[in-house]
Amino acid sequence: MDRVVGAMLGLACGDALGAPIEFMDQLTVRRRYGKLTEMIGGGPWQAGEWTDDTGTTLCVAEGILEDANDPLPAVGRRLLAWSESAKVAGPTVSAALANYRHGGDWVQASRTTPQAKAGRATGNGSLMRSLPVALAYAESAKLLVESARLSALTHWDSQAEVCAAVYCLWVRGLVEGSSVESAWAAALSGARHMAAVGSLSPETPGPVPLPDSFWRRLEGVTTRRYEDLQSSGYAGYCVECLEAAAWCCLNAEGAEQAILDAVNLAGVSDTIGALAGGAAGARWGTGALPDRWLEKLAERERIEKTGHGLARLRASLGG
Ligand SMILES: [Mg+2]
Repeated sequence: MDRVVGAMLGLACGDALGAPIEFMDQLTVRRRYGKLTEMIGGGPWQAGEWTDDTGTTLCVAEGILEDANDPLPAVGRRLLAWSESAKVAGPTVSAALANYRHGGDWVQASRTTPQAKAGRATGNGSLMRSLPVALAYAESAKLLVESARLSALTHWDSQAEVCAAVYCLWVRGLVEGSSVESAWAAALSGARHMAAVGSLSPETPGPVPLPDSFWRRLEGVTTRRYEDLQSSGYAGYCVECLEAAAWCCLNAEGAEQAILDAVNLAGVSDTIGALAGGAAGARWGTGALPDRWLEKLAERERIEKTGHGLARLRASLGG
C-alpha cells in the first residue's frame, strides 16, 4: 500500500517541482536557482501545482478503477474531459483527442495524428501516464497488454509502446520490493521478450520495429554520465526521458535525490521528474518524500485516495 501510494505521490511531486522550469536550459536554471529543491511555482503554475503528467496519470488511474477489465473506454473519456480545462497538453495527445472528437474510434484517431503519419509519435505523452498500469496489474500478461493499449490510445508508435512496457515492468518490480538495479534489469529483459513475441493486441502498433539505438540506450544507462542525459535538446523523446529517469534512480541514495537530479536536468524537467518520482516513490515509499513537498502538493488527497484504490485493486486482482 505504502509503495503504491508513494509512487502516485512521487510522480506528482516530480511533476510539480519541474513544472516552472520546463523548457529552460540547465545553465539558466543554475544561474537562477542554484539547485532547485522546492516547489516554487512559476509561469502558469502555482507552487505545488502539477501539469499534464499527473493530470493524465489520474485519468488512467481513475479509468482503471472504474473498469479494470477493460479500462480503455473509461480512460479515453477522462482524457477528453481533462483536456477541456488543461492548461497544457502535448501535441500528439491533443491531435489524437481532436481526431476522436471528429468521430471514429481510438485506433483510427491515434493512427492518423500528424505525428503518427510521419513516424514520429515518439513523444513522452503516453509514457508519462503509464504508472497506474504498473500499480494495478501484478500479472505480466495483463500489465503488458493494458500498457500497450493505453499507450496506443494517443501514441501510435512502437517506441512509445515499449517504453511504457519497460517503465511499468520496472515500477512493478520496485513495488514488489526489488532493488532499483535488479528491477531495471528484469524490466529490460521482460520487455525484450515481449518485443520478440510480437504484437499483444490488434489495437496497438506492436513492439516492432525499433531503431537500433533503442535497446543500446536503455541497456547502457549505467555507462552514461549525468551531463550526457537528455542529449537531443529537450525534445521530449520517450526513450530519452525514460533513460534519464532510470539514470537518476539508479544513481540515487533515496527518493529526494533521485527526483531532484531528474528535475534539475531542466528541459523536459516535469516529465523526467514525474517518471523518476513514480519509480522512486515505489522503491522508497511515502515516508521518503519530504513533508515540505507533500504539504504544498495540489490535490494531494485525490492522489492519495487514487493510490489507495489502486493498491486495493492490485490486491483483489492478484497475479
Ligand atoms: Mg508536463
